[in-house]
Amino acid sequence: MQQDAVIIGGGFAGLSAAYILARARRHVTIIDSGTPRNRFAAHSHGVLALDGKSGLEILADARAQLTAYPTVTFVEGEAHAAEGTIDDFHIGVTGHGSIAARRLLLASGIEDRLPDIPGLAERWGKTVLHCPYCHGYEIGGGPIGVLATHPMSAHQATVVADWGDVTLFTNAMPEPDEATLALLERRNVSLQPGAVSMIETGTCDRLRVRLENGRTFDVKALFVAADLHLRGTIAQSLGCELQDTPAGKILTTDAIKATSIPGVYAAGDNARAFGNITLVSADGVMAGLGMHQSLMFTAHS
Ligand SMILES: Cc1cc2nc3c(=O)[nH]c(=O)nc-3n(C[C@H](O)[C@H](O)[C@H](O)COP(=O)(O)OP(=O)(O)OC[C@H]3O[C@@H](n4cnc5c(N)ncnc54)[C@H](O)[C@@H]3O)c2cc1C
Repeated sequence: MQQDAVIIGGGFAGLSAAYILARARRHVTIIDSGTPRNRFAAHSHGVLALDGKSGLEILADARAQLTAYPTVTFVEGEAHAAEGTIDDFHIGVTGHGSIAARRLLLASGIEDRLPDIPGLAERWGKTVLHCPYCHGYEIGGGPIGVLATHPMSAHQATVVADWGDVTLFTNAMPEPDEATLALLERRNVSLQPGAVSMIETGTCDRLRVRLENGRTFDVKALFVAADLHLRGTIAQSLGCELQDTPAGKILTTDAIKATSIPGVYAAGDNARAFGNITLVSADGVMAGLGMHQSLMFTAHS
């Protein structure tokens, strides 16, 4: 049966959109491969009334609530292709054939690609962190590292300085300009030049940042701005317009989260430069409203 909408990605954005469509009694299928971006962290923070709850638990609760709506279907799996035009999309799901839908929401999130430094990836979401607003409070002050990966890393270090005593490891990136150096000094950020060779376990549960020159520094946490990449290539194959941001490429959307392709919407980290659970949930709600309004005012209603 043709669905009113298919949502690729059952994360925070996708499920938020699903509530809107389910409550409008629309037939919606959510395809999800079960790997939300924050799955590496045991707790989520800064989410209204849910501070400290795990992201996976929040999503499991939402899925359980949505399952109670008779027009909602969940498909566990990977959407590998999508084609068609408004009112007639076909979405291929590995092991599940093809699903037909009038509208399509891309809510598949982004992938964080970390620098290839031994010891970094296995600590991601635990002591190697992406955002001080999400996880900075729990560090409780003390020595904190910021690993430069990007020209904006110096700015990140000046922000993180509100959470502890920050060392910016330049990791052989070009030294910041004079104005930035002055700002780093004003924010009490120390600069540590030289390539980082490895992240190890230090004393008292700290991380040890080892430089190629042999020097080591123990810190309580290390912030790293990962390289952000859209997941999969469905948006590109449909011809959706992309835009560059300092964080990487994202999908271009309008105020109701419609992409440049009629009938295709995008919400979540894949369509905003900085995402967190609250912001992407709001985007999902907006996309749900946008899709519903667009379904209401077209021929099939
Ligand atoms: C380590 C870490 C910790 C974080 N902690 C916090 C925090 O404490 N508080 C906070 O507010 N924010 C936090 N964030 C940010 C937050 O996780 C993201 O903003 C949020 O997950 C984005 O939601 P989304 O719905 O866009 O994507 P996601 O949550 O990543 O969900 C996307 C979903 O789409 C699925 N998917 C992808 N491709 C396909 C496909 N082709 N077919 C089917 N399914 C697909 C994935 O499996 C996934 O389930 C954290 C991020 C990281 C990296």
